[in-house]
Amino acid sequence: MNDLSVFRINQAGYASGLPVCIAFLGEGTVRLIDCSDTILMELNPSAAPVDQASGDRVSVLNFGVLPEGCYTLENNGITRKLSVLKKPWQPVVDMLVKGLYFQRCGCDLKKEFAGIYAHPACHKAPAAEWENRKSVRLVTGGWHDAGDYGKYVGPGAVTVGHLLYAWKLFPDSFSDSLNIPESGNGIPDILNEARYELDWMLKMQRSDGAFYHKLTKDHFAPFIMPQDDTDPEYLIPVSHCATAAAAACLALASRVYADFDADFSGRALSAALRGWTWLEANPDFIPFRNPEGVRTGWYGERTDSDDRFWAACELFAATGEINFRKAAEELYQGGQSLTQFGWADVGGMGGLCCLFDLREKADSILYSRLKSEFLSRTEEALRLSAASGYGTSLSPDHYVWGSILPIMANAISMILNYLITGRVDMRDAALLQWHYAFGMNALNLSFVTGIGEISVMHPHHRPSGADGIDAPVPGLIVGGPNKCFPYPVHRERLGENLPPAKYYLDELPSADTNEIAIYWNSPTVFVGAFFNMISHS
Ligand SMILES: [Zn+2]
Repeated sequence: MNDLSVFRINQAGYASGLPVCIAFLGEGTVRLIDCSDTILMELNPSAAPVDQASGDRVSVLNFGVLPEGCYTLENNGITRKLSVLKKPWQPVVDMLVKGLYFQRCGCDLKKEFAGIYAHPACHKAPAAEWENRKSVRLVTGGWHDAGDYGKYVGPGAVTVGHLLYAWKLFPDSFSDSLNIPESGNGIPDILNEARYELDWMLKMQRSDGAFYHKLTKDHFAPFIMPQDDTDPEYLIPVSHCATAAAAACLALASRVYADFDADFSGRALSAALRGWTWLEANPDFIPFRNPEGVRTGWYGERTDSDDRFWAACELFAATGEINFRKAAEELYQGGQSLTQFGWADVGGMGGLCCLFDLREKADSILYSRLKSEFLSRTEEALRLSAASGYGTSLSPDHYVWGSILPIMANAISMILNYLITGRVDMRDAALLQWHYAFGMNALNLSFVTGIGEISVMHPHHRPSGADGIDAPVPGLIVGGPNKCFPYPVHRERLGENLPPAKYYLDELPSADTNEIAIYWNSPTVFVGAFFNMISHS
């Protein structure tokens, strides 16, 4: 392993149209050698300072744009190979989308699509309302949210939001040939896959327009296959955040699917409008709490302002009705975090809608002012990347549960900045976040299952733990290092002195560092789709 320790690279490869950057932990001359043993470049980096997040003496080396080929890095006799290809990340983006297929609930995962990971349909039974057990509905479908088998509306909505915007902005990165059941139907598979979640989301709407917060059992299942998890599931009470996020997502879907399926587009818009009507009739935010006796994921939030903001933007984009613009303006002026793209804060999703789909239609507040604020806030992401020895856009004290999310969110912010301004420094810093996910990090590890020479092997993911197959289900990204909220038992094992970027265990029980989640795959799809599209074809 020593030969790998001084060079940290993107194990998924590099693109011939973009600068090749690696992280270097050694001392002395670094040589870049081509496949005919010719030394192409010699770098003599100055001694690197200690990187606060990792404790490593490390710096980013930039070899510039290189032609397609195989290369060797060499330092004091230690070598590591890297490859530069025209389109290295198309298969990676495909695998990340296909990873969501493996999360499908309520249908057979057939061998022809799922290979060795095939299993029979799970969670097929109708579900009762938690508060009214006599009310029973068939609510099958959707994706298992994460390592568990629950299905949650808010996290599902933001996941679909990432996918739909990835397709809208970077359509050339998506094909209709991912080998999922709908492949070949003339609709890009990213939209086919998102539709599987959207159809389920529509079932999660109550007759008055509100959306149930989640569909789960009252406790997490043990590590068994999903088809063996047969305890009853419940419709857990409606919430403001779930309703607003679903309304936003469905309004967006109504636009995206209009050219593919007018009937579905209409149903999505109608559901979104009914969700908004419920929100207007229920203006006072009530935070979601697990009812007594329910111990599955909480996904609680302190406000629904960001979800309402996203919904108002999307409904304005879908209908052109001025009252939605006014609502969005008010919510924006109340304060939104425009660089947040996760389930807990979707302010960035509303901003994305304003900047790329509404543009001038959004008028001065939601376009000119919002754009100026957004661009100014993205400077922080760039600053964090520049301050890190690995180029990682995260401050040392923010290695939270699911640290991959703020890192990918910062990549999205910098990509959007680049799309607006053309600033190459933003693009290149975003690219370092993509490299982080695949091994240019303090752990020398690709956080995506099945991708890279050294990748996660024991994710906190029930099917991967229960299927008897050594290799985990492929195409799933884990949350990564977490020093802010580790399990006490892991804090005890890892110790207070271990740097945050190394606070990680590739072990199945470590939900705190090694769980997968649909809403971590989806921002990674967004980032990968952008870089795939701009890499040389
Ligand atoms: Zn299931």
